[in-house]
Amino acid sequence: MMGRAVLACVAAGIAVGVAAGQPRPAEPLPPLDVVVTIPPLKGLVQPLLPMGSTLTVLMPPGRGEHGYEFKPADLAALSKADVVVFIGLGLEPNLDAVLRKTARPHRQEVGFGRVVGLEPAAGDAKVDDHAGHDHAGHDHDDHGGHEGHAHAGPDQHLWLDPVLCADLVPVVAQAVVKSLETKTGLTALQREELARTEAVHTVAVTRVDEAWRKRLAPLAGRAIVTHHDAFSRPAERYGLRVAAVVRGSHSTEPTPGQVAEVVRAVKKEGVRTIFIEPQFDPKAAKRIATAAGVGVGTLDPLGDGDWFKLMEANLAALEKGLGEPDAAQPGKADSARKP
Ligand SMILES: [Zn+2]
Repeated sequence: MMGRAVLACVAAGIAVGVAAGQPRPAEPLPPLDVVVTIPPLKGLVQPLLPMGSTLTVLMPPGRGEHGYEFKPADLAALSKADVVVFIGLGLEPNLDAVLRKTARPHRQEVGFGRVVGLEPAAGDAKVDDHAGHDHAGHDHDDHGGHEGHAHAGPDQHLWLDPVLCADLVPVVAQAVVKSLETKTGLTALQREELARTEAVHTVAVTRVDEAWRKRLAPLAGRAIVTHHDAFSRPAERYGLRVAAVVRGSHSTEPTPGQVAEVVRAVKKEGVRTIFIEPQFDPKAAKRIATAAGVGVGTLDPLGDGDWFKLMEANLAALEKGLGEPDAAQPGKADSARKP
């Protein structure tokens, strides 16, 4: 094994000389089994994996990201995973118990909430368990529906903030390296290849932040209404205000009183578009839009697994929903827009 690696390194070294800075790995990287909890993590994680790796998304597209119940197939996937990437912060109820139940000695676990310092590091089981208890009552429930960022707990939708996603990339990349080290070991050239892959992906994620910054700058200070409280982080990051959310709780439809309150906020704050989410029934949101005389757009918190496509569609939806000239023309506002 060692001999082969050395020989291959020498061969690759020669190739470098010939192909001017285009070294090829001595040996292909072995594939990994990777599990992520929600679809958008797929797009953030997959580009960092060796070719041929298996990536399993536990929560299927089309359903909401809250209140997921792990199934036997999920436990099986976790039991053979080399790397697990999750959000934490109570988004995945019972996550900690599930991880304990399926623990493997060399499995790398990356919690987004931990990576960005919103949750203590692994080992403090009480944190996840405690957050999990909020599931029945839901973290957004304390929302009056119009206070934007006033959360009971930190906003769990970390993947909708490109800056936080850029922080996640190197940690996942490191987990991939560690996993490969314990699995088969890594040659110097393989390490270089992994580092290049990480650099390319980091640039791609950083470009998303740049696009949001640049294209939302002219719209700074505008108010939005979202379907549930999933977009407070990008709003804050890029200078928008969440004037109201249609569903104070992600588990129940708004009451007539809440609907009336959102309509009032829409009028007061000059909101131009109500952003519905594909995972929810749009009726209440559309009623609000009609009552307030504004348009309807779509902001998708989850997507189908392609994080880049998701972020571009959401950015385009914001531009379209907010980007009209200052004299508001409610009658002209667009109808539902699928990302
Ligand atoms: Zn949510």
